[in-house]
Amino acid sequence: MAEKTEYCPTDEKEIVKTDVLILGSGPAGLSAAIYVARAELKPILLTGTDLGGQAATTDMIENYPGFPEGVGGIELGQLFQQQAERFGAQIIYDMVTEVDFSNGELKLCTGDKQYIAEAVVISTGASPNHLKVPGEKEFTGKGVSYCGTCDGWFFRGKDVVVVGGGDSALEESLFLTRFANTVTIIHRRDELRAGKLLQKRAFTNEKIKFIWDTVVTEILGEGVVKQVKTKNVNSGEENLLDTDGVFIFIGHKPNVDIFHGQLELDEMGYIKTDRFMRTNIPGVFAGGEVADPRYRQVVTSAGMGAAAAIESVRYLEDKETDKGNE
Ligand code: NAP
Repeated sequence: MAEKTEYCPTDEKEIVKTDVLILGSGPAGLSAAIYVARAELKPILLTGTDLGGQAATTDMIENYPGFPEGVGGIELGQLFQQQAERFGAQIIYDMVTEVDFSNGELKLCTGDKQYIAEAVVISTGASPNHLKVPGEKEFTGKGVSYCGTCDGWFFRGKDVVVVGGGDSALEESLFLTRFANTVTIIHRRDELRAGKLLQKRAFTNEKIKFIWDTVVTEILGEGVVKQVKTKNVNSGEENLLDTDGVFIFIGHKPNVDIFHGQLELDEMGYIKTDRFMRTNIPGVFAGGEVADPRYRQVVTSAGMGAAAAIESVRYLEDKETDKGNE
């Protein structure tokens, strides 16, 4: 096996030094950028591949304060971005592939640059869980989807299945009824995890049907999705259900791949922080869903991003003071 080469070889990369580097362009990252920029620093925010984070895949956000009629997920992200840029944050469409926090310096690599930051705010968010059943990978983009807002339009007049029983499953099912003929929610229990308001809306929507105590064990098709195989968890009875699409909303996992071996993670894989958003590495802070398995709301992510940003600014101020006292 080839030996791992030096971390992020610098002779091939442009070196960029910055005060605060922010990773992720969801509500947490963009809020952090607003706060750091307003502290008269010059933050650089690297967006990652999913511009706007998960919020941008939500059609309508109805619980973000200040928008009594709701606000589109993409629109809210654009407003955050405009606000951050107005105060001087630099937002760059790029992605960190490797980090090295091991030698006192905070080094982060992208395809063609090495960033050296005084402080880092990590807000890389979370990604949807996969069912891990045969056919899921094969038919992703061919009927299998993790985003109703992105792909619902393709299912106009069709029948779709939604897997999951949480807020995401119900919210997305309701959205899908704009396009689909029928939306069949398959849930592994006989009780939903989703909030009561969404439940009420789903139960009263004529297009939505439920299959309880049931899991999807296989996704079948020819080029595109045609059927799902289901199994009742109580009786073991198996069935084939015709469908044109399978939307999977069964929770999320934090985006921490590049931090393994660099930062302490909790038992569920989320970045461990204290109540000041500090990770175990001085100068590295985390906020939003990458560090939050519990609340996972746009408003809490934005708040955590702002808190992480405030702490990063204080950290840099303290460092300056310490230098002055030396
Ligand atoms: P979630 O609350 O964790 O729900 C996941 C659902 O998927 C659960 O019903 C779970 O079943 C089911 N599930 C998990 N693994 C499964 C598997 N392998 N096979 C079949 N089913 C499986 O996730 P979420 O709905 O994405 O919501 C995440 C967080 O975001 C929550 O805190 C939620 O409140 C929040 N959120 C809020 C809103 C809103 O306020 N409008 C919208 C979206 C999300 P069990 O119930 O049996 O565990």
